[in-house]
Amino acid sequence: MIGLNRYIPDEIVEQIRASSDIVDIVSDYVRLKKQGRNYVGLCPFHNEKTPSFMVSQEKQIYRCFGCGEGGNIFSFLMKRGNLSFPEAVAVLAERSGISIPEEDDPERDARAKKTEQAYKLNELVKDFYQYVLKNHDIARGARSYLEQRGVTPETADKFQIGFAPPSWDSQINFLKKKGYSVEILEQMGFILAKTKGAPGYYDRFRNRIMFPVWNIQGKVVGFGGRVLDDSLPKYLNSPETPLFNKGHLLYGINKALESIRRLDQVIIVEGYMDVISCHQAGIENVVASLGTAFTPEQGKLLLRYTRQVVFAYDADTAGVNAAMRGWQVLDDIGCRVRVVSIPEGKDPDDYIRNHGPEQFLLLVNERALSLSDYKTDRALEKYDIYTLEGKFKIASEVIPSIINLSNEIEKDEAIMKLAKRLHLSPDAIRAEVEKNARKSRNSWGKRDKITGLRDNKTNFAQPAKSQKEEKDARSKAEETLLIMILEDKSVFSKIKGEVGVHFSSNQEYLNIINLLAEMIENGLDYQPAALFDRMPDEASAGVLSELMAKETPADNKVKIIQDCLKTIREDEIRKKREDLLRQMEEADRNRDQNLRNKLLLEYSKLI
Ligand SMILES: [Zn+2]
Repeated sequence: MIGLNRYIPDEIVEQIRASSDIVDIVSDYVRLKKQGRNYVGLCPFHNEKTPSFMVSQEKQIYRCFGCGEGGNIFSFLMKRGNLSFPEAVAVLAERSGISIPEEDDPERDARAKKTEQAYKLNELVKDFYQYVLKNHDIARGARSYLEQRGVTPETADKFQIGFAPPSWDSQINFLKKKGYSVEILEQMGFILAKTKGAPGYYDRFRNRIMFPVWNIQGKVVGFGGRVLDDSLPKYLNSPETPLFNKGHLLYGINKALESIRRLDQVIIVEGYMDVISCHQAGIENVVASLGTAFTPEQGKLLLRYTRQVVFAYDADTAGVNAAMRGWQVLDDIGCRVRVVSIPEGKDPDDYIRNHGPEQFLLLVNERALSLSDYKTDRALEKYDIYTLEGKFKIASEVIPSIINLSNEIEKDEAIMKLAKRLHLSPDAIRAEVEKNARKSRNSWGKRDKITGLRDNKTNFAQPAKSQKEEKDARSKAEETLLIMILEDKSVFSKIKGEVGVHFSSNQEYLNIINLLAEMIENGLDYQPAALFDRMPDEASAGVLSELMAKETPADNKVKIIQDCLKTIREDEIRKKREDLLRQMEEADRNRDQNLRNKLLLEYSKLI
């Protein structure tokens, strides 16, 4: 397998693309049925019972009309198999018997080698810890601790749990013997420089049960270590390293993916042990963050598989306020966040051991509160509801998550509920919500972009679908033109001569247009499906697949193009007139008769 950052020349990529067939590849994962010119099947990216997933052999693209996923043969493999672009290319190269030439780039090769070495080192350390746990006398306490917590040997194997010996130098000695330099051991967070006495190093992880942390491809990228007694810190993680970026990782994601996808839901817990006991109990759509508040990156990772997120946290956790900010982050980027407090101050691990997995699932599915309800509960505990100030504070904490509710009915319900609890009129709350929604319109823009691909996932009407979504004549014309350019490059130069290149103000359209312009200018020939590899973001790729999935008008193309151009030109003129009218009003206000006359002349020319 080719390294993650391996560069593959464009010609080779094109050659591989040309000798692969998307229907062939998708058929490995989805049962496809021919329907007209295309193939259809059940979408592998979201849960559905009637097929809305379409593959076009002709255009070599796929598009799901349910969840909005779309792309070409490479993006399909990347998303379905969790591969990087070079990895996806390599898989297809092997399938079609094309070899990817070695290319000289010492710097890149050195980087790739270093990454490779870092992965190998992590793998080796994981094996070392596992060996010690299973075989060594010093790990007797650790073994009985795991037994006490109900972790079976099979589960310990599945999660590759190990034990770091209590000594100060067993790891450093072992790894040095294996040929690793202290520099890389320090960089990867296994050893620390002594601050006292003779210079030297010592092991970071000592006398701890060790949990390897994997990336989404299942490679070990770091570790978490737990003490056996009550000493502190209870958990110690690897420091940030080139491989271990806590804000981008989710513990257990590689083992949870299939289940998350199947159930269209992810349960997020706090600790390693919570993930492990859930899996052991057969609940596999469970991950944990690594002791940090949730980041947008983690949210985006999850959004590729589901938007239904349930946090199952110990109700008494001191860190719940910090955690809440992370929940809001997920809410903001378009996840549907719910929260369940585990009763009796238990964590999921305890709860499952005491009450069984069925009861735990019942909690998750029946008792989880929407983020706004959860926040209301918390705020009611904190503030005095009988004072105006208290009411105000509660409202201002809860309203942001009401704004984020994707469904108008839910939103209304949340407003009514909050009004009732605060003894205020629903209209007062509604007015506050609307005021705040206007204020946060900027962050809405961001949200739309990130979740552009998934906005159709639920059947709920999405908020903030704004004028952009309403297909007025102008945007319909822009869309038709783009579809036709994608079909036939010569249309592009014609349009360029008439209304210019940037005939649209839609950011995704512009991204597509700019890319097309660049390729045409450089005389690059391309298959339309190749455009997906160069899309700057998911939202643009989603729009591109939407455009490509549409049928192009069959006859009288020239007439259609002319009509579209006319619509665009008229719209431009309308805008210019409006602008002139505004300027004239301004000139009136300033009593600038000269300017007004000039503007009027211009205006009359436009009629
Ligand atoms: Zn889908």
